[in-house]
Amino acid sequence: MRLHSTRTPDDRKSFRQAMVANLAPDGGLYAPELPRFHDWDALLALPWPDLAVELVQRLIGDEFEAHALQAAVREAFSFPVPLRSIEADRWCLELHAGPTLAFKDFGARLLARLLRLHDGDGAVRTILTATSGDTGAAVAQAFWRVPGMRAVVLYPAGRVSSQQERQFATLGGNVQALAVAGSFDDCQALVKACFADPDLSRRHCLTSANSINIARILAQLCYYPLAVAQLRQQGELRAPLICVPSGNFGNLCAALYAQALGLPLAGLAAACNANTTVPEYLDGQPYRPRPSIATLSNAMDVGAPSNWERIDHLLGGQAGAQAALRWGWVSDAETRAEILRLYRLGHLVDPHAAVASAVLGRVQRPGEVGVFLATAHPAKFPEELEALTGMKLALPPELAQLADRPLLSQPLAMSVAALRAVLDGGPAICH
Ligand SMILES: *Cc1c(COP(=O)(O)O)cnc(C)c1O
Repeated sequence: MRLHSTRTPDDRKSFRQAMVANLAPDGGLYAPELPRFHDWDALLALPWPDLAVELVQRLIGDEFEAHALQAAVREAFSFPVPLRSIEADRWCLELHAGPTLAFKDFGARLLARLLRLHDGDGAVRTILTATSGDTGAAVAQAFWRVPGMRAVVLYPAGRVSSQQERQFATLGGNVQALAVAGSFDDCQALVKACFADPDLSRRHCLTSANSINIARILAQLCYYPLAVAQLRQQGELRAPLICVPSGNFGNLCAALYAQALGLPLAGLAAACNANTTVPEYLDGQPYRPRPSIATLSNAMDVGAPSNWERIDHLLGGQAGAQAALRWGWVSDAETRAEILRLYRLGHLVDPHAAVASAVLGRVQRPGEVGVFLATAHPAKFPEELEALTGMKLALPPELAQLADRPLLSQPLAMSVAALRAVLDGGPAICH
């Protein structure tokens, strides 16, 4: 795979170089130059995860040893990805059966394995990530006990759910959880300052696990073909419209890359909550990043989505994006109403999936088949869902087993010097 910076087209990189580069030196993101496949009927007949293995091999197979790459994909995607029929002409692709019960497992688990293949033995790499919840959990679990890797997770103290905190702060070993006295934006600013420090970055081989990392996007583009393949297995041969619940827009970017590879789709829709930077832009207003607003679908509370630059680059700006996409946003009240509507049809979904389902209902055209993505397990939102539906949610074993583990996070002052001291302090690397 060849990639180039969204800002400097002749800054070209291989996949491996882009995976460890974080941002391009000009501040842009690395965007892949994708081939178009012409044998989708054959590809879509492959079982999972063979389909993902084949796609990844075609895209980056020239940069890794074949058997190791195959094994990496199979291990990363070792959980089921069911497609559920919801109502007439509407389906849901459930992406939340991984170890941390959110779709971030796809990207984090493949990234961990590809970095390990890239580094081989003897390297020492620090994965530095800021989280408002799901990313930290997926990254911590994916990198836990991986030789040569240390994962440092920054999160806003007291502002993530205690369940989320347990998913990344009870592991210990090569996973360091830092509770920052500040907001998620403060955590992200600290992380950015470290990446902007060339000496520190070099000293620790600092690597981003946020969705600017192309390896995460590569992992995610594999499940869009899986949705189409499963529809075909069910006898549904129409190319679907797929609706993607979006925050940083990595997931929608992956969907657009799958479409660029030639995957037959009727269209793609961006679904947002009250953080409407992108829907407003698609409505024709200027692109105006802004601070985020807290909502029920909190993993989508992003006011300055980092992957929009890749999408705008791919689609050629505002007019191109308007022509290529459908879009919509819903309030928390509408999200709750959609959770309740689906519950009465016999389906319990989390707030992020409900946003996607509600927007799908608005943008789907007569005669079309639609798919929305369920990105988190409903049991991650027990208070909200129990209050709405009156039912008692069982805690899945992945979460129940964390309940009485001690929290191992350390407090961190809101200062770059304090973070630098932690990074230079304990290596905490597995060998
Ligand atoms: C991260 C996340 C999203 C948003 O995905 P992006 O790729 O950032 O657009 C949606 N739902 C859940 C549950 C998430 O964790």
